[in-house]
Amino acid sequence: MILYPHLDVNSEGHLTIGGADTVALAREFGTPAYIMDENALRAQFRTYLTAARTHFGETALPAFASKALCFTEIYRIAAEEGLGIDCVSGGELYTASRANFPAERIHFHGNNKTDADLAMALSMGVGTIVVDNTDELMALDRIAAEKGVVARILLRITPGIDPHTHRAIQTGNVDSKFGNAIVTGAAMAITRLALSLSHVSLGGFHCHVGSQIFDLDPFCDAADIMMRFIADVRRETGYTATDLNLGGGLGVPYTSTDKAIDYAAAIADIAAIVRKKAEALSLPMPRVILEPGRSLVAAAGITLYTVGGVKEIPGFKNYISIDGGMPDNPRYALYQSEYTALIANRAAAPADFIATVAGRCCESGDLIGEGMPIQRPVRGDILAVLTTGAYNYSMASNYNRLPRPPVILVKDGVARVAVRRETFEDLVRLDV
Ligand SMILES: *Cc1c(COP(=O)(O)O)cnc(C)c1O
Repeated sequence: MILYPHLDVNSEGHLTIGGADTVALAREFGTPAYIMDENALRAQFRTYLTAARTHFGETALPAFASKALCFTEIYRIAAEEGLGIDCVSGGELYTASRANFPAERIHFHGNNKTDADLAMALSMGVGTIVVDNTDELMALDRIAAEKGVVARILLRITPGIDPHTHRAIQTGNVDSKFGNAIVTGAAMAITRLALSLSHVSLGGFHCHVGSQIFDLDPFCDAADIMMRFIADVRRETGYTATDLNLGGGLGVPYTSTDKAIDYAAAIADIAAIVRKKAEALSLPMPRVILEPGRSLVAAAGITLYTVGGVKEIPGFKNYISIDGGMPDNPRYALYQSEYTALIANRAAAPADFIATVAGRCCESGDLIGEGMPIQRPVRGDILAVLTTGAYNYSMASNYNRLPRPPVILVKDGVARVAVRRETFEDLVRLDV
């Protein structure tokens, strides 16, 4: 096992994923390539679904936040596994509809949905639109009236939690482009407005506190604050929310120093808070929706590259150049995110070479990581970066006119293409 149970080393010293030899995969599909273990992916989908139903009740629904990883086949897998999805754009909705994803299980998000987005969601029969602000609410009511339908909505609420300072600070996240703060009165005001409109039907409330969070306190605080808000709304308006969407944000290990989260236990802990608050406030237990993105898909994915130059600059650093970089994984350039990398064709050798892994773009910030312990490579070796299933393919670009890598799904040792590699022809497809 290397970081995750589905990653191992075989008798030839090659890294394996879901039993498949990564060196053979690199040979078959070329590099760079995103490889995902479908069994690990499906197992994590089931962990969330089972835990949500066990602890929150049978109506609970994990909705995969598909901005973390979006292509047709992932929506088919989410549909088969019984999950909902969260979409944030017309493009994601279109892809979901291409996968025949059941529209009633879609939550449509975004802080600035256009009129066209709203009309598209209504035409598709999207189950729930999570409304961000009053302008959007009024636009949705108008568009729904024009179509002669009633849109089922949740309202995005800002509970006032900064997950990185740990405790609920009632003003912590008020300064946000997302949602309506409780503390300023905006949340109550938009609730009253929604209740007064005839072409929206308020189902309840949504919040999302942040991402790559390991500590459960922010989630427990959010659950507590949201339940109190539901009680305040009932007292002031007589309306009792049925749905509570608690967002996503649980973390995943990227390196051996990150702790592993027991997701089922985390869901049990959060459910206990919601249940306790429901009893204390004499509220019915809400139908809970969770929106994990990263924690559903990150662990299942790795990226394979081929090593080009290896540069040792005496007194400074060692550089390993690979045939990908920020266009297929912009997370280090964006957030200095940490990763684990290894030489896939010598995975059992000691990782005693400390190096900066650099991409092939004309940008000195085009790095996958710095100070990474890795096996000493030579040109032609296969370099694997782990935990790349989330926010890699979905964030990929064609910077420097580099074609985007394929997404390969491995199941029981058998590989299939879920997204094919872009060609140069694809790159010029839109050029006139
Ligand atoms: C990004 C996002 C998520 C998923 O976050 P993760 O950290 O990937 O779990 C869920 N809900 C909303 C509204 C989001 O913006």
